[in-house]
Formats: sequence, C-alpha cells, structure tokens
Amino acid sequence: MNEPPKIKKLDETVINRIAAGEVIQRPANAIKEMIENSLDAKATNIQVTVKNGGLKSIQIQDNGTGIRKEDFEIVCERFTTSKLTEFEDLSKIATYGFRGEALASISHVAHLTIQSKTINDKCAYKASFVDGKLKQGPTAIAGNQGTLINVEDLFYNMSVRRSALKSGAEEYQKVSEVVGKYAIHNVAVGFGLKKFGDHNDIRTPPNSNYIDNIRTIYGNLIARELINFNVDNDVYKFKAHGYMTNVNYSTKKFNFLLFINHRLVDCHGLKKCIDQVYATYLPKNMHPFVYLSLEIDSKNIDVNVHPTKHEVHFLNEDQIIEALTSAIETKLLGSNNSRMFYMQA
Ligand code: ADP
Ligand code: MG
Repeated sequence: MNEPPKIKKLDETVINRIAAGEVIQRPANAIKEMIENSLDAKATNIQVTVKNGGLKSIQIQDNGTGIRKEDFEIVCERFTTSKLTEFEDLSKIATYGFRGEALASISHVAHLTIQSKTINDKCAYKASFVDGKLKQGPTAIAGNQGTLINVEDLFYNMSVRRSALKSGAEEYQKVSEVVGKYAIHNVAVGFGLKKFGDHNDIRTPPNSNYIDNIRTIYGNLIARELINFNVDNDVYKFKAHGYMTNVNYSTKKFNFLLFINHRLVDCHGLKKCIDQVYATYLPKNMHPFVYLSLEIDSKNIDVNVHPTKHEVHFLNEDQIIEALTSAIETKLLGSNNSRMFYMQA
C-alpha cells in the first residue's frame, strides 16, 4: 500500500484566484456587477466602453458619488463594502452590492484601475490594484465627478478560463444584453454602450420612459405592441409592473426581462407559466416579449446568494406566480377583446 499524499493548504493567491474566477465568469457579469455599483452610487449616467467584447478591456464611467481618497486603500480587499455592516442588514438590503466581492474578485483576475472624484474633492484620484491590494496611487489627476473603472486583460492569469471564453463578438452580444436590460429597467438613468473608438450601439437618455427604452433597444416592432400592466397584491405582499406584447406580436425566442427587487434574475417557473399563458393565443412555438419588475418583501427572498446565482426562489413562489400569470392573462384578453371590438365596430 502506498502512503497517502500529504494534505497541504493552497497558496493564498491561488485560493483567491479560484474564488474570484467563480464570481467573475465573463465580461458580461463583471459589467453587471459594476453597473450595480454605479447605480448604488446614485449615478444618472453610465457609459460602458469595451474592446474585443470586454476581453481586452472594459471601461465604466459613471457620475455617481465617487469613492473617497482614503477608501482607495481597502476598496478592492475582499469583504470591504460601504453598504452592509450587520448580518441582519442582509434582510433589508436596499442596495445591489452587499458582500464587497466584485472589485476584489476583478482585481484577482484582471488589471484594475480606478479613478474617482467625490463632491468634496478638487480633483480626481487614480489608483491601480493587484490581487485585492492597492498597487499604485492614489495620485491626483484631473477628472469628472464620479467613478471610472478600467478592467484590462480579463483572466490574463487564468489561461484555461481565458481560452474557454467565446469570441469577442459573442461576448459583446452578452454584454449588450445586460446593458440593454439595465437600461430599460432604470428609466431615470442614461446608459451607453460602445466599442472603443466607435459610436454608441446602445444609448438611452436619463429621465426616459420604459416604452422609449424598449423601442431603442428592442425595436419598434415590439414597442408598438406593448400593453402596460400593474399588479398590487395585499395577500402575498408583492407589487409588479411591466410591459408585455399583445397577441399581434410573436417571436421564436421568448424575450423575458425579469427584475426582482431591481436585480436582473432568472426564475424558470415564472417564465414557463407566462409562456404558457401566451401559448393559447400565439401561433405554435411562438413567444412574447415581457418586461416584468417584481417587488417582494425582502424578508421573503434570500439575497445572500452567490453573485453568479441568477436563478432565484422566494417565499410563496407558486401563489405569486399564479397571481401574476392570471393578472397577465386578464390584461392580454382585455386588450384582445378591445381590439376585436374595435375591428367589428
Ligand atoms: P459591494 O458592492 O458589495 O459593496 P464591491 O466590490 O462591488 O462590493 O464594491 C466595494 C465598494 O466600492 C462599494 O461598497 C462602494 O463603496 C465602492 N464602489 C464600487 N464601485 C463604485 C462606484 N462606481 N461608485 C462609488 N463607489 C463604488
Ligand atoms: Mg458591488
């Protein structure tokens, strides 16, 4: 019998890199994290610029509150956050970020620089970070109010991960889906997305409205067939609003934009049930476009999930899905009837 191999603790940088690679999986989800940070910082304009779909570089510029110069020292360490102090806070969290993991993770798998200016500073400060630590700066530099984050060479130190990623074009497609969805949901905030040295492919102005944003991003074919819905349910304590296409529109792929408590998430059960409602009214194998913003009591949804777990579950899920789908069906039928009535008149 051979002797068993000795158990050794992994090197700290290796542990951190593995953990970071789980949080940050591709440009699109790094960008999602950074957009949420900008929204948390009360930005009203967020500009995303990428090279090679974000694989070569990602730049996010916002006009939010900025980061204090003295916070640069720890901003990229793991579990540093300005948003949460007590575990109990997790149940009533109102901001997106809560675990202080995004920037730390990015700094372990890419070259990260942050430039930021707060309202109280005369100039901006710029610093670079490696493996969670401040490497250079912060140095004074001319700059606008807000934060500019630069992420270069994603997974430069994880060659297997890097080569498993799709082409720049495919990554760009995923990036533009994320930016487009956040742009629609956050009507007060202006969003831009472009390739470096190019014009914006996505551009929504601040203080826009849902229909205009949907038109900008998904086109007029969808925008002109939208029905607005609002549901307010006292029994299960949830509110929902959104826009769904009427029966004049259908497409091969179900476009479902779901935000629960303002987070872009997936909920397979809900998606399936809404699709089933439409199945009765649309041609075979065709689907609608639905944008749905659902707000439920934060006590009833566990937000303490891993940042990459997009699929969510919540208390009274079946009942809430049932209430939502029946409200949607009523609306759909209503719009259908009024259209028929109009045509007969
Ligand atoms: P979390 O969002 O969970 O707090 P992050 O790693 O995403 O963790 O960010 C760490 C901290 O850095 C945030 O709590 C916030 O104070 C600051 N921060 C990050 N991005 C921005 C930004 N765009 N504007 C202002 N502050 C930011
Ligand atoms: Mg965050």
